[in-house]
Amino acid sequence: MSRIGSMDKTNCTQANTCSDRSETSIIQVEDPCEVCREYLVEPVLVLHPYTVVKCLRCGFIYVIPRPGLPDLESIYEESYFTGQGPYGYKPGENYLYDDTRLGIFVERIATIERYRKPPGFMVDVGCANGFSLRAARDRGWECIGIDISEFAVNFARERYGLNVIRGTLRQVALGDASVDVLTMWDFIEHVPSPREECMEANRIVKPGGILALSTPDADAPNPSPESCDPAKAAFWQADPPEHLQYFNASTISRLLADTGFHVVNLIFFGKGDRREGAMEVYAVKGG
Ligand SMILES: [Zn+2]
Repeated sequence: MSRIGSMDKTNCTQANTCSDRSETSIIQVEDPCEVCREYLVEPVLVLHPYTVVKCLRCGFIYVIPRPGLPDLESIYEESYFTGQGPYGYKPGENYLYDDTRLGIFVERIATIERYRKPPGFMVDVGCANGFSLRAARDRGWECIGIDISEFAVNFARERYGLNVIRGTLRQVALGDASVDVLTMWDFIEHVPSPREECMEANRIVKPGGILALSTPDADAPNPSPESCDPAKAAFWQADPPEHLQYFNASTISRLLADTGFHVVNLIFFGKGDRREGAMEVYAVKGG
């Protein structure tokens, strides 16, 4: 194993094996691929201090090194949602108050109800300001939200009276097989370990219960290649430290299958849809 010539020493330290001897661009990472447990990857591009890599076995694309929880908490502050900081929504996007987005969540809840109907207990992890919880509550679901963002949690509680807990899914430690539906909208691409999240999902979701998620499709074409950042030419979606995991239909289905979920519906969104380039995945817990 060796490292690509363009990788600097900082990135080199993220790999267990690091040598200048070979011309190849394969490196061995410290933590195995979240999807297939492979250690060998090919660097896709370097966005210092992060490197986007591609698993040699399954093709999963992800970021090394993984930021820690304190780093992530510092990203998802008020400025993330209001467009005033280096990360998150752009100024003028008005995410917090843009109720035209609510329709997307109404549609998602309706899709879930094709497989499981209320009443029941629904949990939305990475709930932000609570769009999904509002849509679910209106349909008669008993629901709680979970988010690491103190700002988002307070906003959802105070503005909409939603039951929202600050923390990670594992910190909240819901009971075994206590959840009918777990939703992860635009969540899994932000977390350091999707496998850990899916394993925790498997623990808390009832047999026959639903895990529903949305995430960008790593195979989606760039909708505006002419304005692509040249630094991201090798992979236009690269966006660390916000997006750390880049799934396509194959890798998300494999991860879900490996953690006990059977995909029943996979929806892609193309031109003309507000979710262009994203996919939604609906899966049933086996057993
Ligand atoms: Zn892999």
